[in-house]
Amino acid sequence: MVCFTHIVLFFFFAALSTVDTRSIQNNSDVELLIQNRIVEKKQLSATIASYRHRFEHSPNFKKLRWALSEKLTPPYCEFCHLFVPAIRFLIEINETIHVENVTIALCKDIQLFLNIEVCVGAVLEYKDAAIEIFSMSPLTNKELCALAFDCEDQKDFPILRWNVTIPGSKPSPRPPQPPASGSPKLKVLHLSDIHVDFAYKPGTQADCHKPLCCRDGPTIPGPNGAGFWGDYRNCDLPYWTAQSILRYASELEEDIDFIYYTGDLPPHNVWNQSRADQLYSLTTINQLLAATFSNKTFYPAVGNHEAAPCNMYPTPSIRTDNITWLYEALADSWATLGLPADTRESIVRGAFYTTMVRPGLRLISLNMNYCAPENYWLFVNATDPLGQLQWMIQWLQYAEDHGEKVHIIAHHPPRSCLAAFSWNFHQIINRYENTIAGQFYGHTHNDEFIVFYDEVDKKRAVSMAYVTPSLTPQSFLNPGYRIYTMDGAYENSSYWVLDHRTVIMNLTATNMYNRTILLNEYEARDAYKMENLFPADWDNLIQRMQNDIDGSLMSSAYQYYTKSYTNGTSCNRSCRRGLLCNFKTARSDDPHACDSIPSYY
Ligand SMILES: [Zn+2]
Ligand SMILES: [Zn+2]
Repeated sequence: MVCFTHIVLFFFFAALSTVDTRSIQNNSDVELLIQNRIVEKKQLSATIASYRHRFEHSPNFKKLRWALSEKLTPPYCEFCHLFVPAIRFLIEINETIHVENVTIALCKDIQLFLNIEVCVGAVLEYKDAAIEIFSMSPLTNKELCALAFDCEDQKDFPILRWNVTIPGSKPSPRPPQPPASGSPKLKVLHLSDIHVDFAYKPGTQADCHKPLCCRDGPTIPGPNGAGFWGDYRNCDLPYWTAQSILRYASELEEDIDFIYYTGDLPPHNVWNQSRADQLYSLTTINQLLAATFSNKTFYPAVGNHEAAPCNMYPTPSIRTDNITWLYEALADSWATLGLPADTRESIVRGAFYTTMVRPGLRLISLNMNYCAPENYWLFVNATDPLGQLQWMIQWLQYAEDHGEKVHIIAHHPPRSCLAAFSWNFHQIINRYENTIAGQFYGHTHNDEFIVFYDEVDKKRAVSMAYVTPSLTPQSFLNPGYRIYTMDGAYENSSYWVLDHRTVIMNLTATNMYNRTILLNEYEARDAYKMENLFPADWDNLIQRMQNDIDGSLMSSAYQYYTKSYTNGTSCNRSCRRGLLCNFKTARSDDPHACDSIPSYY
């Protein structure tokens, strides 16, 4: 899930230029600052006043306040275009020293719709990095707003367009075929977005206007109090619930061959996390996994929440910060989960790696923090950081040359990436469609699938990505995990997914009866009436749902999207169209991905 910090960082921008007289009177530090520093600088004073005036008279400001309080996507762009130049101006005249005081004063001003503890915590966590990024970035203000908030088409700016080198000579497409009956199968467990909250406290306020609740203050009686086993509102998973779900999976799911595990271990208290907190989550959860699934190999990918601050993964060109502390811990911890020792060097370098899972099946685990718009370090340079895409191409070419099949795992689905990365990624998937037998992601917390289409024959489906639902119930979801049945392992296995089954914990019933109640939510082939789970079959499902937008298949798809927290009746036609559009959108900044879906009005 996208961190709340996007909103907070926006307010960090806003704070710099909206010091109003009320907050000045209430805060002696800021008053001093204004009197002794800023007022002396007439040019700065005039600029601040001008930005403040424009901000206060913005027709979108009220909309923004409402959007923030409702946690919807706000109209950021106007503000981005106002405040980015203001920040850069402050940096230019060397006034960054007082940013903290001014922003904290602003936090007090906006506390009605942004919790002050969250606001101040985020300012302290992100301030230094933000100033550094604005100082170092070669991008213009417009380009920054295009990257940060998609204010303009990223592809319109030459500096934001870049291409990796993809080998030609694409072999003719060989779509997957069903295996012979009775051929061996693989059973693969996929866990994602565990987000254990070690400070979870049953009975505390579950609706607290922070990114994470169910952990602070006194216990309160009635429905506002956090459930013992978890809560649908802004709350992460209690440790004992994680233990219980994992124990269920290890005991009930017989003969699991191996486990995909796609990141996001820490809770969502992103405004006050330290490196020590993140390392505690990593160690404790991975020890639990190793103990629960004692003889299984995990194939992990790193999430956006593992860093401190959340999302911030500096590239090697950033001199003032580095992420070695995390990558070394990941390499150590992932080794205890069964990863072979020869992956270590690659993990310590960039938290991506490749290894063989079975003879003929290669895994590529990617670090999508090097493509995520929330990783603000990329605003300094986003061109294929650490050469990860070029590295992936080399391994895909190696796999093609040696007759291997490849599974790709990562935390963010590639459509969550910055546009250039996402479009390059799409081209790579197209080029190696015969080699890539499956893609497995997390991050959204919802149950989704994504069909990749041919870039020339846009109706031909070429690859499948599965977005496995989260263990955390955040927000308004049941906790869940996924079992994939795959072709293999035998010589010339296709290693394609043949079916999948989702298991959910019914959180309402679990809290009501005070015992964990888990159930098979659905099996894909049966629920969606599919012959196989190949790209053409998923495309056919989309066609069937599209032709019967009010029908039961579409209702089921929405119910599963929420892990049966709700059913299809709460999703109207526009919501259903949006869901279909999701299923067809494999890359970001692709305005025509859903042109073939009617508007249903
Ligand atoms: Zn997550
Ligand atoms: Zn995530």
